[in-house]
Amino acid sequence: MERISVFDIFKIGIGPSSSHTMGPWRAAQRFVREIDVPQVTHVQVELYGSLAKTGKGHGTDLAVMLGLNGDDPVTIPVEDVQANVARIEAEKSICLGGKRTIPFNPVQDIVFLFEQSLPYHANALVFRAFYTNGEGVSHTYYSVGGGFVVKEGEQNISSDKELIFPIDHAKDLSKWCVQEKKNVSEIVWQNELCWREPDEIRTNLMLIWTAMRDAMYKGCHTDGILPGGLEVTRRAAPLNRKLLAGKPYRNAEEWIQQITRGDHSFQDILKWVSCFALAVNEENAAFGRVVTAPTNGAAGVIPAVLMYHLCFSRSFLKDDIVKFMLTAGEIGSLFKKGATISAAMGGCQAEIGVSSAMAAGALTECLGGSYGQVMMAAEIAMEHHLGMTCDPIGGLVQIPCIERNTMGAIKAITATQIALEGDFTKAKVSLGDVIKTMKETAADMSNKYKETADGGLAVNISVNVVEC
Ligand code: SF4
Repeated sequence: MERISVFDIFKIGIGPSSSHTMGPWRAAQRFVREIDVPQVTHVQVELYGSLAKTGKGHGTDLAVMLGLNGDDPVTIPVEDVQANVARIEAEKSICLGGKRTIPFNPVQDIVFLFEQSLPYHANALVFRAFYTNGEGVSHTYYSVGGGFVVKEGEQNISSDKELIFPIDHAKDLSKWCVQEKKNVSEIVWQNELCWREPDEIRTNLMLIWTAMRDAMYKGCHTDGILPGGLEVTRRAAPLNRKLLAGKPYRNAEEWIQQITRGDHSFQDILKWVSCFALAVNEENAAFGRVVTAPTNGAAGVIPAVLMYHLCFSRSFLKDDIVKFMLTAGEIGSLFKKGATISAAMGGCQAEIGVSSAMAAGALTECLGGSYGQVMMAAEIAMEHHLGMTCDPIGGLVQIPCIERNTMGAIKAITATQIALEGDFTKAKVSLGDVIKTMKETAADMSNKYKETADGGLAVNISVNVVEC
C-alpha cells in the first residue's frame, strides 16, 4: 500500500487543474530528467483520454510546454506563465530543461488524441525525444489525480517508507487512535516524523497555509473576467469590498484582522466562507498560484474552512493550522488509497467530495472532536457528495467548479457540527464504508461525467468558447 505524506496531498503550484495541469507539468519535467538532453533534436507529446478532451480548457498544453522548458510550478513567477508560453508559441522553440533550445511547434508537437485512451488510467501522456544519431526514446506517464504522476511499468507508490503507524484503511486510523490514546493529528504527526524533522514539518505546513492565504487575498482583490472565453466575471473581490464596507487594511494580516473583528450574522459568515472559496478558485481558473488540496479544481474548500475557523471560531489557536493540515491530509490519503482523487476516474465526488470530507474531519479535530467524531464528520461530508459528476463547461475549471467549492466548504462545516453533536458509536455508515461506496460509484459512473466535458452542464449550456 502507498505511504503518503501530508506534503504529497498539499502541493503549491499553478492552476487550473492538478491532474490536467500539475501532473502533466511534473511528467514533462520528469521526462526531461530521464533523457539525454544534449542529444535531443526534437520532442513530441501525445495526450490521451481526458487529457485530450479537456486538456485545452485545463491548460494541459501550457503545462507540458512549461515543464519541457525547465519552468517549475512552485517557483515560476505567476506573470511568467502566460509570457513564457507566448514566447514558445511565437518563436516555435523550447529551451529543453532550460539547457538546450530546440524547434518546438505546439500546434504540431502536442497531439490531442481525442478518441484514444490507454488502459491504465484516463489521463495518459506519451513523450517522445528524437536524438542526433537518428535514434530516440519514448516514455508514458499517467497523471492519476492530485498532481501525482506514475510512469508506465511503475507501481503507484509515492514512498516505501516504513511508518510508525501504518494506515491503509480508515479502521487502521481508528485502531491507532484507540491503542495509542492519541487524536488523529497526533498519529499523523508521528508518521510525518518518519520523513522530516519537527521544525521542517511545521515550517512547510505554515508555508502551505501562507500560499492558501495569499491565494484568498489575491482573489479577493482582483476584479475582471476569467480567461478562456466563457466570460465569467470574478465575484470574490466585489463581495469582499461589500462585506468590509470600506474598513482600512494594508496587507493580508490586517485584512484578516478586519474580517475577524465585530459581531457576525449567520448570513455574513456564509458570505465570507463563499468569498474565500470563490477567491481561491478564481485564482486557480486564472492560472494563478494555489495549493492542490487534494486537487486544484477543489483547491478552495480547505482554505475556506480553515479561514472560517481562524476568523469566526472563538477557540482558534495558531497551532490549529498544523492540526488542521495533518488531519485533512490523512483523510485525503485514505480516499486516494481506497478510492480515487481523480475526477477522470470518479467524477467531482473525487474532487469536491474528498476536499469537503478532508475539511470536515480537520475542522472537527480543531474544535475538539474525538477521533470517532473526526471520521464521522468526514463520512457525512462525503456521503452527501456521492455520485457528483464532473461536467465542466467548455472544459474550463470555472462552471460549475468555482461555485462548487463554496458548497463543499459549507457542507464540511455542517458535517462538523452534526458530528460534534453526534455519537459516532451509533453511526450506521463508517468512513471506510463511504470510501468503498465512492469507489463503486466511480466505477459505475458513465465516462461522460468523468472530466471529459461530454455530458451534463458541459453539453446542456450553449456557450461560444473562443480559443485563446
Ligand atoms: S466539475 Fe468538479 S471535478 Fe470537474 S473540473 Fe470542476 S471541480 Fe474538478
